[in-house]
Amino acid sequence: MIRNATQREPLAGSVDVIVIGAGHAGLAMSRCLSQHSIDHLVLERGEIANSWRQERWDSLRLLTPNWQSRLPGYGYAGPDRDGYMTMPEVIGFIEGYAQAVGAPVRTDTTVTSVTATDDGYCVVTDRGLWRCRAVVMASGAHNIPLVPAVGATLPESVQALTAKDYRNPGQLDDRGVLIVGASATGLQLADEIQKSGRRVTLAVGEHIRMPRVYRGMDIQYWLDALGILDERYDEVEDLARARHIPSPQLVGTPQRSTLDLNALTQRGIDIVGRLVGVNGSKLQFSGSLNNHCAMADLKLSRLLQRIDDWAERCRKGSRIASPERFAATRVESAPRLGVDLQKQQIGTVIWATGFRPDYSWLHVPAFDRKGGLRHEGGIVDWPGLYALGLNFMRRRKSSFIHGAEDDVRELGLHLAGYLRRRHGVASRDGRVISRAAMAIRTGDLH
Ligand SMILES: Cc1cc2nc3c(=O)[nH]c(=O)nc-3n(C[C@H](O)[C@H](O)[C@H](O)COP(=O)(O)OP(=O)(O)OC[C@H]3O[C@@H](n4cnc5c(N)ncnc54)[C@H](O)[C@@H]3O)c2cc1C
Repeated sequence: MIRNATQREPLAGSVDVIVIGAGHAGLAMSRCLSQHSIDHLVLERGEIANSWRQERWDSLRLLTPNWQSRLPGYGYAGPDRDGYMTMPEVIGFIEGYAQAVGAPVRTDTTVTSVTATDDGYCVVTDRGLWRCRAVVMASGAHNIPLVPAVGATLPESVQALTAKDYRNPGQLDDRGVLIVGASATGLQLADEIQKSGRRVTLAVGEHIRMPRVYRGMDIQYWLDALGILDERYDEVEDLARARHIPSPQLVGTPQRSTLDLNALTQRGIDIVGRLVGVNGSKLQFSGSLNNHCAMADLKLSRLLQRIDDWAERCRKGSRIASPERFAATRVESAPRLGVDLQKQQIGTVIWATGFRPDYSWLHVPAFDRKGGLRHEGGIVDWPGLYALGLNFMRRRKSSFIHGAEDDVRELGLHLAGYLRRRHGVASRDGRVISRAAMAIRTGDLH
């Protein structure tokens, strides 16, 4: 048994399952639990869709098209199926879902600790303590920005921001900006900040290059059709690596334009290799830029070939545009290996180097030596504990909106079975009611 002092908090109540987080994943799980007639509550520290309200920059649009914004029992119903939602539209979409599924959400309730007890879990919040049989952590995969160690040695004369802090160019002084990281976020910020009139340098490491539209169809159509987004965690050769693959260089714009390194360098954005060192005001970049770009070009051609082969087999005779190949990424033969922040008048560094989940409130021994959550496709290595929305958790699409449906269905089934086998008694209508919840209802709690 694992307990801590926080259990002295007043008891707010008891349910079979607590879901932590009212983003799309937590809400989808709520719908699934309701379908299994499982008593549950969704605890949310802010408002519904909080991450989209609080943690994204102003101009962001989804990089997945509207037709792909689908959740269990719900989907985009507007007129622009090929468009890309703005942040207010995403928030409206998720709020609409919460209403449609009647999710029992307690907003403004922050979970501060989760501990295991003899018969389940004790979930402490800033509004009292809950007891439950099982916990679903739908608290997001993008809670904490990852900043490489060299970040700690930046001189104080530069403003350092993460993609989570950045809202719009109005936050920046007029000097140049270095953006570290060239995946979807890094490219989108480089594009916006350069258009605001500032000089931008982009540090580029491993990246995934993709055209927005290929053969007349959104690239997401092809990834979907080829089954790439459905690839399962137990099918890939190197899962650890697959879970760390960067997001593709994509942007959602009304023009459906491609945003790649060529588009940026053509407009005067400087590209350099990975940031590897800081020495006073001097920054050092690795000499790997050419290799990273060549590798991204090669992977792009392989993907396009796969698409062409599939189209030849499965869409023969249908009206799709002809195959196309794109110019190789243009890189100087000897890209710069150093930049002097002072001489180049760079006033801001923005880290677009990824995120990790925050489970600092989880006091259960379910972490590996590196602090990662030990789980098998979201079934955590501790009975009755589940995760949602993590990168390549059960499938390549797990961390995307449309990825919730399959994961939630499978984890919901597992959870229902767990409650039945381990704790449950079935009521007359077949509803799973835990012994502890019944004890609480009959006043027999100690
Ligand atoms: C910049 C960016 C762009 C993205 N673009 C797309 C896209 O185009 N298409 C797409 O499909 N996906 C996209 N994603 C990925 C993914 O869809 C989002 O990250 C999405 O927000 C994840 O949903 P979620 O429900 O798993 O987590 P979140 O939406 O993060 O929801 C988690 C909820 O848990 C709450 N919470 C966290 N900790 C606690 C706590 N201790 N107590 C109580 N509540 C807590 C949070 O407030 C939040 O509301 C993007 C992600 C990022 C970061």
